[in-house]
Amino acid sequence: MNTYGGAAVEITKHLLMNLSLLLVLLFFTQLIMERQLKEESRERYQLFYFVISIFTCYIFSVQVQDGIRFDLRQVPMILGSLYAGHSFLFAGVTLLMRGFLGINDGFWVSVGVFIALAILLKWMHPWFNRLSLNQRIGVSVLLTVMTSFALMQMVAIFNEPIRHPEAWISFILIPALTSGLVSYSIETIRQTVIIRQRLAKADKIEAVSHLSAAISHEIRNPLTTVKGFLQLLGEQNYPDEKKKEFIHISIQELNRAEEVINDYLTFARPAFEKVEDIDVEKELNQVLNVLNPLANLNGVEIKKKYTPGLVISGDRSKFIQGFINLIKNGLEAMPNGGELIVQTFRTGNVVHILVKDSGIGMTEEQIARLGEPYYTTKGQQGTGLGMMVTFSIIRAMRGKVEVKSQVGIGTTFHIRFSNIVDDK
Ligand code: ADP
Ligand code: MG
Repeated sequence: MNTYGGAAVEITKHLLMNLSLLLVLLFFTQLIMERQLKEESRERYQLFYFVISIFTCYIFSVQVQDGIRFDLRQVPMILGSLYAGHSFLFAGVTLLMRGFLGINDGFWVSVGVFIALAILLKWMHPWFNRLSLNQRIGVSVLLTVMTSFALMQMVAIFNEPIRHPEAWISFILIPALTSGLVSYSIETIRQTVIIRQRLAKADKIEAVSHLSAAISHEIRNPLTTVKGFLQLLGEQNYPDEKKKEFIHISIQELNRAEEVINDYLTFARPAFEKVEDIDVEKELNQVLNVLNPLANLNGVEIKKKYTPGLVISGDRSKFIQGFINLIKNGLEAMPNGGELIVQTFRTGNVVHILVKDSGIGMTEEQIARLGEPYYTTKGQQGTGLGMMVTFSIIRAMRGKVEVKSQVGIGTTFHIRFSNIVDDK
């Protein structure tokens, strides 16, 4: 009696060990699956999890008596078939593993039970997925108990009956417990994924409604202004001075509308359609040319400190857009003049671009909010979209931005790109 008791404790220990391994494996599979964006690759990892679990069960199986081995292989086999489908694949893997341990009575018992089980599970799979969460867990546990029972009965037919009664308990109870725990975990994980997807969708919907609100506001205002001036011009004969002023304001308003549209378009399509060589010096000069009138207006002196010959890959027009937004902010931060330094250099495989202004600077809080949509300190003059677009462009080019700023002293943007193109 004592030895039987000892054996049963041994079996229970092994099965509990199986249980914890299955849970640990599930945990790591989950971590890997979290990082997969594609549904297919997630499914592949799930399949992989169940196969590896069956494998693990065999490695840690325990010999009860001649030709009879105990482990929890039926749990991943059943759950895998129910959750991932492919019941014949799992049955095949299970039997293959069992075959390696020896073709004996126990093996033939397994063949019978697992093939019958695979047929049953194949038939149940579509029905199973329509059940509620709790029903699914219940069905998993029930099937596991039934399978364990069938295995024990079959063993008893072919072989002498299992001698220790404690083994019965541990062989029915622990698989049921494992099955319940694993399916509960799978359900919880699924639930979290669904909730997260819903949140992401809600975020997107919010972004879209923000977007349309902003468009109607930012675009309609300039259009109304321009329309008003055109009407005025058509109705009365104003002096040339007045006409010039109307036209000047109209153009300014249209420019603003154009800017907003540009920003939105770049933001809406941050994925790059084109990948071309970007000659950093040439494109930065282009940016500075565009912004030259603003620099002159604010009395800003621009200093260029380029390292020649730096080339990175990406979309040229988006690179330009990103740096226009960035450098424009620098110029706008120096309404009473100052110095803007644009510097480039290379260390190893990294191209560095520094934009340094001696403007009003930012507080910690302002730096933290930089790039948030509609965050602006410029009131009616600002859109709060520029940095959001710049950041999304740099991110899409796998670049990194570091911001250093001191109120009253100035701001430095340090951008690193590692998608360098070397001359061949
Ligand atoms: P906008 O320029 O329309 O306000 P941005 O997204 O381009 O929107 O910038 C957001 C805010 O970040 C600005 O309103 C300003 O407060 C701050 N900012 C950005 N760049 C600088 C800079 N170089 N110096 C000081 N403040 C800056
Ligand atoms: Mg701006």
